[in-house]
Amino acid sequence: MKKNLVFLGPPGSGKGTQAVKLAQKLNIAHLSTGDILRNAVKEGTRLGKEAERYMKNGELVPDHLLIDLIESKVASSELNDGFILDGFPRTVPQAKNLKEMFDKNGVSLEAAILFQVADNEVVKRLSGRWFCPKCQATYNYPTNVPRREGVCDHDGAELQRRPDDEESVVRNRLEVYKKQTQPIEDFYREESVLTEIKAEGSPEEVFQALLREIG
Ligand code: AMP
Repeated sequence: MKKNLVFLGPPGSGKGTQAVKLAQKLNIAHLSTGDILRNAVKEGTRLGKEAERYMKNGELVPDHLLIDLIESKVASSELNDGFILDGFPRTVPQAKNLKEMFDKNGVSLEAAILFQVADNEVVKRLSGRWFCPKCQATYNYPTNVPRREGVCDHDGAELQRRPDDEESVVRNRLEVYKKQTQPIEDFYREESVLTEIKAEGSPEEVFQALLREIG
């Protein structure tokens, strides 16, 4: 089974949800750069302060900030038992840097999984996306609604939306994805590690497809 993985896909493709599920099942590390950055923003760290202005407009945070962050993880033992990089790389320079880091540390990338979802489905999904700030559970209208309107099933906390899930920002995130992130697909195709998964089914269907792909 392949355990050194990169997850690619437009915003709203469900790669974060799949990453959480797979990391739990295989007991491997899950590194979401989006989550790391949102935490940094919440804590008001230097990284967070720099990243916030890009994130709120749906733009990418400058490469060097992300590369430094990932480099420290690759060099540590944190990824030794396998990993999912969720949201990194997002530009060709990030992908090239990652390859160098892997080569230097004797790590091999076994698959880059691309979650395919049409644009209109992305907009629909993200405009219905809510999450619990306490336990991070996610909900979606109308496919996965909480039992009580606006309240988390697990801990009763009031549900929130991500500020960058607002429709105009979502449209920009999609444009940014096409311009800056999609070229990575060719990079990984040439490296012979790209695997495409149709990600418009239910989370469970997509998960089964994912398990088949990684063997
Ligand atoms: P995500 O949760 O993966 O959708 O990421 C949320 C936001 O964090 C993105 O819209 C970017 O502003 C920023 N971000 C996350 N990962 C990266 C990355 N690898 N490179 C640049 N910006 C990133």
